[in-house]
Amino acid sequence: MNPWASIASLSFDLDNQWSYLKTHGDSGWQTFPSYLDIVVPRVLEFLAKRRLRITFFIVGQDAALGKNRRSIQAISDAGHEIANHSFSHEPWLHAYDRQRLEAEITRAEVHITAVTGQRPVGFRGPGFSFSEATIDVLEARGYVYDASTFPTFLGPMARFYYLLHSNLAGKELDDRKLLFGSLRDGLRPLAPYRWRSSAGLLEIPVTTLPVLRSPIHLSYILFLSGFSSTLALAYFRCALRLCRLADLSPSLLLHPLDFLGIDDNVGLRFFPAMQLPSSQKIKVVDEALRLYCEEFDVVPVLAHANAAKAAASLQLPAAGFRRPCREIDL
Ligand SMILES: [Zn+2]
Repeated sequence: MNPWASIASLSFDLDNQWSYLKTHGDSGWQTFPSYLDIVVPRVLEFLAKRRLRITFFIVGQDAALGKNRRSIQAISDAGHEIANHSFSHEPWLHAYDRQRLEAEITRAEVHITAVTGQRPVGFRGPGFSFSEATIDVLEARGYVYDASTFPTFLGPMARFYYLLHSNLAGKELDDRKLLFGSLRDGLRPLAPYRWRSSAGLLEIPVTTLPVLRSPIHLSYILFLSGFSSTLALAYFRCALRLCRLADLSPSLLLHPLDFLGIDDNVGLRFFPAMQLPSSQKIKVVDEALRLYCEEFDVVPVLAHANAAKAAASLQLPAAGFRRPCREIDL
């Protein structure tokens, strides 16, 4: 049995209003409209009530803007892990060359560290965008883990849904041709693994359903809850049981829109479940996280990575460490 299988991690991608408008190709994002002052206090209160400490992936551009400073500082002050979610939040990061990527990651790191006092050691690409150059840059900069991979076959479907009513064309559309990944991403490992030698960077994939590889993170559960909350939570409960059976230590994520609804008037109606009131969404998130905490010891992603690393150094047969060499299926 995997000795650290009772551990699970939880993270929050602090995507802002402007970043969703930008990806969708809507005008107005250039002034960086922000809902952080609405959503951050709501989320911090929710987590504090449940005594949860998690990882927040912060966008560098938001840390660089004075209007978001207080919200981002509050996250760090509450004791959460701060990680890097790129500077410009462009989900076509995989198309950047090494030099541009290094500048992007470093710029985010500098601004995030200045605001929070925490230098990130974890990274997640926007929209799960990912490349081998990302791994090179993160290793060179001394990062402990990457959390950008999302092993699902549903990426192309999510892309279709997201861009269905956008007005993008030409290069802008071309940039987004791999938004949310390709079918091949469904074949990536579910359990944590090392990219290279024993000293190398760890990958902590966003967990999907064992075997079927359908998403199980909260935004997907909320999408399902638009049809039936009971069914959505039953699916989530089954998914957690399957992780247990597969000896898999899961890593799930949250997004701001899991806590915002139609009553918050932030627009973004093209997003699944944005037609629901925030109270209804938060009720589903609350119940799902209650189940998650009942089944696992929920920790930040860095603690998850360190537990996996410690188990591997003891030569325990930890799941996911059967790949001592570089993952090459990029
Ligand atoms: Zn994001």
